[in-house]
Amino acid sequence: MNAALASEAKASGYQTSTVIARIMDMDVDAVGNAEKAAWKRYMGLALLAIAKSVDKKKLIEAIFGKGGKPSKTFQNMYSMADKARNTVLGNRSWDDIRAMPIDAAMDTVMMSINPWLQHQWYRDNFMRWVELLPRPSETVPGAVAYFQNLDKRVRNIRTPIKPGRFLQKFFGDILTQEQIHEHALEWAGRFEHPDVTITQDADEIEKVYRARHLGSCMHFPEGGWEGSCHPARVYAGPDLGIAYLGSSEYPDARVLVWPARLLFFDKFYGDQSRLRSALVTMGYRAGDDSRFEGARIRRIRYQGNYVVPYVDCADWAEDDGEYLILGDGDIELGRTNGLNVESEPDYTCDDCGDGMSDDERNYISSIDRDVCDHCCERKYFFCEGSTEYHPNYDLAPTRGGDGSYSYSHVRDNRNWFKCEATDHYYHISQYTKVETYEGDTYEESYAEENFFYCEYLEQWVEDTDLLRSYCQ
Ligand SMILES: [Zn+2]
Repeated sequence: MNAALASEAKASGYQTSTVIARIMDMDVDAVGNAEKAAWKRYMGLALLAIAKSVDKKKLIEAIFGKGGKPSKTFQNMYSMADKARNTVLGNRSWDDIRAMPIDAAMDTVMMSINPWLQHQWYRDNFMRWVELLPRPSETVPGAVAYFQNLDKRVRNIRTPIKPGRFLQKFFGDILTQEQIHEHALEWAGRFEHPDVTITQDADEIEKVYRARHLGSCMHFPEGGWEGSCHPARVYAGPDLGIAYLGSSEYPDARVLVWPARLLFFDKFYGDQSRLRSALVTMGYRAGDDSRFEGARIRRIRYQGNYVVPYVDCADWAEDDGEYLILGDGDIELGRTNGLNVESEPDYTCDDCGDGMSDDERNYISSIDRDVCDHCCERKYFFCEGSTEYHPNYDLAPTRGGDGSYSYSHVRDNRNWFKCEATDHYYHISQYTKVETYEGDTYEESYAEENFFYCEYLEQWVEDTDLLRSYCQ
């Protein structure tokens, strides 16, 4: 074990005695299924023991008693764990693993060994992979490297093979062709080196943000931010940056990263699974808000305020004079206009007094008021006649026409007439207007029901009792 690893492990969060107790709990020389289970657990625990700098001799003494002889299983697993250490961790440190409770640490260690470990078919056939020890090939990206035989294993020589062929060869009796295809893709997706770029260049970051809409409100393809430049430019170092997949002209995914700490903030835009697995392969880990606290972003002043995007990993920042520091502070990072403050509204609603942009503005010419969309929807209606908005109190009761009409439109309009009985306005294209002998206007069907048509006068007469005799 190297000195750096030993000193890292020394700070481990769980007790040496806990690791030893877990190992002692296991029946290391069990047979059959229990043996497989034991081997699997042993591998993880042996790795944890190594991480914890548990001295091998003391471990043996604790498990097998003073002067006791370690079992064969113990010996095999310990040496395998020692060899697998780099495969499991790659260039990562034990920091994240040590911060976890022992069971979570165990799971993580075991899961890191390879992406097939989560599948039941793989777990049920533990002995097969224990012999082959497949791991990502270092020479052929996306391939599996495994020990072809015991001799090569002793000499630590692995042979690369395509993951699909590996599965066909060693698990072909268990898996269907569809499963082989699917799991081969799973391996390749995890270990191939996709086209990931990590940039801290402001121009490149802006290009990626504007090139393609990946579901973010910070897209701004045609500009339109409030400040002096695209707000995502603040991610151009010194701490943060952007990782993206594909070209900057047409990115498939992007995510915020802290390159020096090998962290990505767990909010992806676009093809999350490919970018995530690529970053994990590169040694990156997901970080939450707390891990991004203290990150420095660029400080761009604009008219007494700051150019900032909507920041996923922090709500506030403070100005240290040179950079903005994420975490606490009074600079708000939750706005979508490209600044830390709400911009001055262009207009004010005459009804509710709220600010509004030109887009949200509705001029009501009949009463000379400027109102916001919200007020407009609540208190005004669109008159099909004047093709303008009118206050709701100006809504005329109408029959015919097409939609709503205002009093100011239907009154004194020769296309409309008012029925004295119903007080409704009727459109002449769909209704017939009749004028009575008395000089009032009605809709024809009302007249038919209530009045009398005088053949002599050739007119409808309202006072039917009186006039029936007169006319006849
Ligand atoms: Zn309003």
